[in-house]
Amino acid sequence: MAVLEHLTSQQAIDLENKYGAHNYHPLPVVLSKGEGVYVWDVEGKKYYDFLSAYSAVNQGHCHPKIVGAMVNQAQTLTLTSRAFYNDMLGRYEKFATEFFGFDKLLPMNTGAEAVETALKLCRKWAYEVKGIEENEAEIIVCKNNFHGRTTTIISFSNDPVARKNFGPFTNGFIKVDYDNLTELEEALKNNKNVAGFMAEPIQGEAGVYVPSEGYLAAAKALCEKYNVLFIADEVQTGIARTGKLLAVHHENVQPDILILGKALSGGAYPVSAVLANDSIMNVIKPGNHGSTFGGNPVAAAVAIAALEVVKEEKLAENAERLGKIFREELGKFSEENELVTLVRGKGLLNAVVINDTEDSDTAWNICMKLRDNGLLAKPTHGNIIRFAPPLVMNEEQLRDCIDIIKKTIAEFSK
Ligand SMILES: *Cc1c(COP(=O)(O)O)cnc(C)c1O
Repeated sequence: MAVLEHLTSQQAIDLENKYGAHNYHPLPVVLSKGEGVYVWDVEGKKYYDFLSAYSAVNQGHCHPKIVGAMVNQAQTLTLTSRAFYNDMLGRYEKFATEFFGFDKLLPMNTGAEAVETALKLCRKWAYEVKGIEENEAEIIVCKNNFHGRTTTIISFSNDPVARKNFGPFTNGFIKVDYDNLTELEEALKNNKNVAGFMAEPIQGEAGVYVPSEGYLAAAKALCEKYNVLFIADEVQTGIARTGKLLAVHHENVQPDILILGKALSGGAYPVSAVLANDSIMNVIKPGNHGSTFGGNPVAAAVAIAALEVVKEEKLAENAERLGKIFREELGKFSEENELVTLVRGKGLLNAVVINDTEDSDTAWNICMKLRDNGLLAKPTHGNIIRFAPPLVMNEEQLRDCIDIIKKTIAEFSK
């Protein structure tokens, strides 16, 4: 078979099964085109995308401004490495630091790399500024976190599927319950070796767990009290997804270290970043850290365009407004429908909890039916379905989608 010959869905699935590592369990749909809130499969069937590549495609599929910036830069200069300067990186760093209100940015490619970078930065700050004895620094994280897939990151995960037989693990992490200030303070109080506290402002992969109002602001205040860095992993919640540019902005919090990825590129290209002020970022000296592709001119051009789209198209405001409609409508539906226990979320990062056990396949079967009815979503943790469409959706489209979701779930309740 020629590589570029037209494939049916089944052929494409068979190829991945035979030649690809089985590290995912995709919903059986094979996509070949995307535009805005829509994607099409190889047979030409059109769907609403309600995953947005785990919130990487907040700006919508193939946004012309972002793709235009990418193509233009790809035809000019793609990679120099950081052995030399390029004429795009500084522009991007100025733009993004002003956009988010930090002194400096450290460019990486994937979310996990940015998390690793933040952890290294936090540790180095702890030794060189806070004065913790070398190799003694500890970083507090939350139970049920998701921060990526590297060896160090899975070391402080408590998901057995992500950890089993990948040890030995990296030391230096303390786990506390999410949304629990008493435990956090307990961990901070009697330990002079704590360097940082890292959290997701909403736990996305865990099933869209929104902490109590005031939790983030209080956690930040505790970090200040104990001279510990507050590290916000906004890889999934950032870039307008929850109805503000950053989810921490709901509580007027400015983290000490901000981690971004996913929608920083609008899904066009892997771009991630760590932002911090000089008092922290200046501990990094030449040779301490790096990445061949981090800060390349294509990434810089794409990220500027992706952030401009967020502002120009008022995506945060749109996410805030549509999110309220979504939760209100499905909230009403859950009162009448026994299969839906709960609808929760912020902005356009929402989850519907299905009234069934975690190991049941009801949520998966609902997602299969949603697919048949023209809407793509994926269960997370068994009985939770995450709904996160591109933020360029309009109200009419959203109401259409709410109808599809209600109709599909109603079919199951019969
Ligand atoms: C997706 C995600 C990551 C990891 O990003 P990758 O690009 O997949 O490495 C890290 N943190 C959070 C909160 C995420 O949702």
